[in-house]
Amino acid sequence: MLTTNPFDDDKLREECGIFGASGVEGAAALVALGLHALQHRGQEAAGITSFDGTLFHTHRAMGLVGETFSQQNEDAIRALPGKAACGHVRYATTGETALRNVQPLFAELSEGGFAIAHNGNISNAMRLRQELVRTGSIFQSTSDTETIIHLTARSNYDQLLYKFIDALKRVEGAYSLICLTREGMIACRDPLGIRPLVLGKRGDTVIVASETVGLDVVGAEFVREIEPGELIVVKGTEIESHRPFPPRAPRPCIFEYVYFSRPDSKAVSAGRSVYAVRKAIGAQLAKETPIDADIVIPVPDSGTPAAIGYAQESGIPFELGIIRSHYMGRTFIQPTDEIRHEGVRLKHNANRDVVAGKRIVLIDDSIVRGTTSHKIVQMMRDAGATEVHMRIASPPTKNPCFYGVDTPEKAKLLAANKSLEQMTDHIKADSLAFISMDGLYKALGEAGRGEQPSHCDACFSGEYPTPLTDQRDRENVDQFALIEETEAAE
Ligand code: SF4
Repeated sequence: MLTTNPFDDDKLREECGIFGASGVEGAAALVALGLHALQHRGQEAAGITSFDGTLFHTHRAMGLVGETFSQQNEDAIRALPGKAACGHVRYATTGETALRNVQPLFAELSEGGFAIAHNGNISNAMRLRQELVRTGSIFQSTSDTETIIHLTARSNYDQLLYKFIDALKRVEGAYSLICLTREGMIACRDPLGIRPLVLGKRGDTVIVASETVGLDVVGAEFVREIEPGELIVVKGTEIESHRPFPPRAPRPCIFEYVYFSRPDSKAVSAGRSVYAVRKAIGAQLAKETPIDADIVIPVPDSGTPAAIGYAQESGIPFELGIIRSHYMGRTFIQPTDEIRHEGVRLKHNANRDVVAGKRIVLIDDSIVRGTTSHKIVQMMRDAGATEVHMRIASPPTKNPCFYGVDTPEKAKLLAANKSLEQMTDHIKADSLAFISMDGLYKALGEAGRGEQPSHCDACFSGEYPTPLTDQRDRENVDQFALIEETEAAE
């Protein structure tokens, strides 16, 4: 059996990363480098579209950026000429994982070619799709992103930019988009700015990327965020800014700081690196949930900055009590279920000399299903830890995300179904504690969450900042099915 990412299945997963470059010959090569730096945002597929002034060129494939656009595969980049290109790394959010869903998606519209790379999730895509199909649209993929193409194609405005804006006004949810048209590159964020997108410059070349780490890798300077609700049009090296939506208070995803973004990226709204924010979260966690212990151990790699912050604040020594193998491929052959069950040991191993005889504080970024936490606590005990106290650098994850992050359904989220005591028992820890919601906002430099939070935190709070039309439709259908079943049983 061949399976994907078998040992990361107890994390929320960011679904996509996007990158665009305009105003330089060979833009596709920069995009390939940028996508490589954004690989942590999606490992299932990668694609790039370029425009050479006359024709659009696309190469998309399943697999990692390094496999698809490697030195051994230089032909793939050579086949993407032109001074503008955009690209995408993907983990499936909506639409099954198949090549036809790999982005950028491309269509020939009446105004010429249109390529689109999307990070996020359209939360009324199903509703819109049904309407479009009923009136004659023929979809090529099962991706929510294709809805934007059809809405753009069918808009009554006479220019592609206005058609595109018209389409965006009909969609709900989260989107950071980079599009390529004959007129230039378009980049935009949804009115709440739920998913990130930053603007950079490399000389005159304009770069747009999901995270600043994408700018760093191509030697570009960070200029600013693309603002929530802003749309920029890049013609060569010139940038026009448009604000087609009524202004709203932004709600960027707070989980970017907890886990998704690379620590060496800038947490723009917090004005610091993601690493600095994660350390501050760890320090706040130490203030809120102190414990008498001998060492602080991170669950690598994502728990490491918070563990450093916890150790510095508490004065308890930081130690690497768990060593992570960095040589496990994206896919791994698992001959038996038993080996899959033991998978966590292939990825993480206890550093026995450090752990034996110690009371440990174990720091992780989040608990999703609880399966990994349970195994890691057991691993610490097997290595001789006398006490294992688990501390989590985010509030309990109780709700699914509908904005472009892969979350298990609510029934599988440990915190949605168990009390703190039950969770502690489930993972077999001596104690378990989470950072408070206010504490998380304090680590971002705010006084607390307040009545009008500055970020989306729906996976913790259940307060979704946009309507969830498709979800509501689905629940209504389920209710209806339940009524029918009940009637049938009577
Ligand atoms: Fe981020 Fe959670 Fe909001 Fe999704 S629900 S956008 S993961 S904060």
